[in-house]
Amino acid sequence: MKRIVSLFVPEALLLLGAALLVTLPSLEGTAQGLASVYPFTVLAAALLLGWRFNRSRLVFATALLALAESVVTGAVDTPRDRVVFHATMFLLPINLALVALLPERGTITPAGLVRWVLLTIQVILVLFLAQSFPEQTLRIVTPRVLPAAWTSWTPLAQPAILTFLGIEALLVMAWMREPQAPVRSYAYALIAAFIAMSWRGAAEDRVIWLATSGLILVVAVIEASYLMAYRDGLTELPGRRALNEALPRLSGQFSVAMVDVDHFKRFNDTYGHDAGDHVLRLVAARLAQTPGGGTAYRYGGEEFALVFPGKGVDECVPHLEELRETVETSRFTMRRRFRPRVKPKMDKGRRTRQQITITVSIGVAERNHRHASPDQVVQAADKALYRAKEAGRNRVAT
Ligand code: GH3
Ligand code: MG
Ligand code: MG
Repeated sequence: MKRIVSLFVPEALLLLGAALLVTLPSLEGTAQGLASVYPFTVLAAALLLGWRFNRSRLVFATALLALAESVVTGAVDTPRDRVVFHATMFLLPINLALVALLPERGTITPAGLVRWVLLTIQVILVLFLAQSFPEQTLRIVTPRVLPAAWTSWTPLAQPAILTFLGIEALLVMAWMREPQAPVRSYAYALIAAFIAMSWRGAAEDRVIWLATSGLILVVAVIEASYLMAYRDGLTELPGRRALNEALPRLSGQFSVAMVDVDHFKRFNDTYGHDAGDHVLRLVAARLAQTPGGGTAYRYGGEEFALVFPGKGVDECVPHLEELRETVETSRFTMRRRFRPRVKPKMDKGRRTRQQITITVSIGVAERNHRHASPDQVVQAADKALYRAKEAGRNRVAT
């Protein structure tokens, strides 16, 4: 359930807000008034964030949306206007997809300048064709390939509609392949832009849809920065900062377990750092599914913390034993790309897919009269972890 909701939040909420703004009769005056400040606010936020956070994508995307806005708010009467309109609608999704999918390379760097030049060439070419060969160009950009009735709900020409659909599918596929990537916000931004282009109501409403498209991208950059601060990039577990903020929020009883991978330095030395990273991710995935309502955090290095709200040590120990055993019995498969630095001693026949056993030691402590503050509980869990190591590793100590 949470995962399904996360597919729609926050972008779909912003789309919904825009939809209410432009359709609710009681908000009509508000929409009119907003249309004169909303896009500039979004533009300012996007430029500021793009500059301060080095997010050239955001700068390019807002430039594209600003260009689109100048087109959808103008008149579309003459053949010249219509060429500009249809060519822009056709080029917008393509350019947005390029911004979304090409790597981040800066705004005024050589690669960034190349992108500005490409954008400028498109603008000049469209204006030139619109001015010099309006009729011929119009025929090229508005051929009819589908029955007219299918697309009569939008003023967009069929090539632009098909491009929008194709690019949207491409962006959604890229998003599914890499859920954390910025491409997700572009898939949503393109929907908002498409609605803006197709909207037959007042020009102000189209402006609101386009500004919402920009807002989606701005919010995505802010959310990504939040995640960078609170979530560990390697394991995708919440990080120590998140733990430090979560513990003081707990009231009443809770337990903290510190989990440390056994002899991990030796593992790194044998198989290399990349293989070590791979194992940390696998262990983290096991920890993320800790039974008993525990939440896993990456404390640092190969140490993790598990927080059990409302539970005492005695209630946690069976879950922790189960977890310890899950890790011990998991067969971590080392892929061939992790070539061992030192050839491990093992049977020769199975060198490509090595099965490796990993164990963890766990120390757990609860909040009580002796350990009242979160720091004290963590320290007590750390001491228990030390005892688990001393006692021979691969065990839970209280
Ligand atoms: P023990 O059983 O006593 O815990 O032994 P250990 O070798 O695991 O203990 P120690 O804390 O001395 O070593 C931890 C090692 O974990 C050191 C470091 O090379 C490795 N390590 C820490 N963070 C990372 C990481 O992000 N990636 C990889 N690959 N290794 C890491
Ligand atoms: Mg350690
Ligand atoms: Mg260790």
